Formats: sequence, C-alpha cells, structure tokens
Amino acid sequence: MGGSSGFIGKFGEDEFGRFLLRTLEENHVDTRAVVLTREAKTGLAFVTLKDNGEREFIFYRQPCADILLTPEEIAIQYIEQAKVLHFGTVSLIVEPGRSATYHAVQWARSAGKIISLDVNLREALWPSLAAARQEIYTALSLAHIVKVSEEELAFITGNNESIEEETNQILALGPGLVFVTLGAGGCYVKTKHFATAVEGIAVQAVDTTGAGDAFTAAVLTRLVEIGLHDPRQIHDISLSTMQEICTFANIAGALTCTKNGAIPALPTKADVEERMGQ
Ligand code: ADP
Repeated sequence: MGGSSGFIGKFGEDEFGRFLLRTLEENHVDTRAVVLTREAKTGLAFVTLKDNGEREFIFYRQPCADILLTPEEIAIQYIEQAKVLHFGTVSLIVEPGRSATYHAVQWARSAGKIISLDVNLREALWPSLAAARQEIYTALSLAHIVKVSEEELAFITGNNESIEEETNQILALGPGLVFVTLGAGGCYVKTKHFATAVEGIAVQAVDTTGAGDAFTAAVLTRLVEIGLHDPRQIHDISLSTMQEICTFANIAGALTCTKNGAIPALPTKADVEERMGQ
C-alpha cells in the first residue's frame, strides 16, 4: 500500500521459510526481525476453493516454527521505529508464541504505539471455543483498532443483536475504532462518536482469500498517512475522513477478490487509487 512495514515472526529453515522470506523482501517488507530456526518447520495454511466459492482451510501447525517465537527473541528497539503494531489471534493459541506476542503488544502499548488487532478466528486451531473467546477478550482489551467479520462479531458478543449493539460491546472492551468487514457488502465502522456503513464496490470475485488482509493494510496505511501516530488521536478522525478510508479499503479488498491466491492477488496503492478515481 506504499507504506513501510516490517514482519516479526519465526520461520523454519526450509523451502517454505525461504519462500516467505524472499516474498517479503521482494515486496519491500523489512525482515530484520524474522528469526529462522532448524527446530521446527514453517507453519502452513492451505486454502482450498470450492466451485461455489466457499473456502476451506487446512493447517500444518504443530510443531511449527511461528509458535516457537519467544519473548526474548523480539527485538524491542525494532518496534520503537513503528507507529502501529498489528497482530492476530492465531499467534495467541500456544506458548511461547502467545507470551512473545503479548510481550510485543504490551511493550508497544506502553510506548504509546497504536495497537491494531485482526480477530481472524480460526476455530480448528483452538483447543476449545471457550478458550478462543477468552483469549480474544484479552487481545481486545489491549487493542486500539480492531477488524472483525460479522461472524466473529457474533461469536465474541455471544448474541445476534444489531451491528450497532454488537460493536458497542467491542468498544466497551477497550478499542476506540472497530471495522466490521461485510464481504461484497463493504464495511461498517464504529467509533465512540459515530457509526457508518460504506458500500463495497462491484467486482467479478473469483477468490476472496487475502481480502480482509488487504482491507486492513489499506486502513492502517491511510490512517498513518493522515497523520495518526498516537492512539489518543483516534477520536479526532472525522466522519468524512473515515468514509474516505473505508472506500479506499473496500477497493483494496475488492481488487484482491478478482485474482486467485493471497499474496499474488494483493493490489498496489496505484491500483486502488486508479479505481478510486473512476
Ligand atoms: P474477511 O477476510 O475479513 O472475512 P471479507 O471477506 O469481508 O473479509 O473482505 C474484506 C473486504 O474486502 C470487505 O470488507 C470488502 O470491502 C471487500 N470484499 C470482500 N469480498 C468482496 C466481494 N465479493 N466483492 C467486493 N468486495 C469484496
């Protein structure tokens, strides 16, 4: 999306690990905080796409390298350079990855960084849904910005009330800004001051893998571009700015759906801007 980013994590010294490292570097993602190990193989997620467009995830998880990242392996000075620390809940399932993730998040929070969370619930990976819900609550209490799908929202709140009610419950847990992705419907955003829904754009969708990630990348990059560098500023964002950010992010998500795969399908900032101008 034209911003600068870095990745913190652990890969196995195997073909998939080398592939990931190379792919990040080719896309100008800073990989200095990536740790390589011979102790375990690189974690994998296979996504199968059925004829009706539904997806199925199959994981190679245990034992795998990413969950072996330890708190001591996280170079805190590295996070010092960032404005936003983004994390997901898949890294919270097993130790020591869980402690490593919270170590980074808690340090960044105390240093005044903006914390962004993608709930990204992968039910099959959790020992129980109760454990997943509990951990998501903890993660939410540390986040300023949250991205959830409608299904995740219902799971977290445990009810099927209006989207406004449900997002209010998320705000009550700590975050100041909640994005709900609505597939082809676009997104809904809620802050303590306003709520708005922004329609998606019509595309010929072939594979939605990566759409949520493209959406989040677009949101975070635009927020930094408009000058957000302190969580306290979240409440100063106007409704019209938020609508512009949502439109930009909806286009980033929609364009990702027009191609197969995850990483190869991600649009560039120029792609999104071109569509925005149409
Ligand atoms: P997640 O991967 O988080 O479940 P979604 O599938 O809702 O996310 O997609 C993220 C964003 O991508 C949506 O909010 C929307 O902007 C865009 N998007 C997803 N699917 C489509 C689609 N079929 N047509 C147009 N835009 C889409």
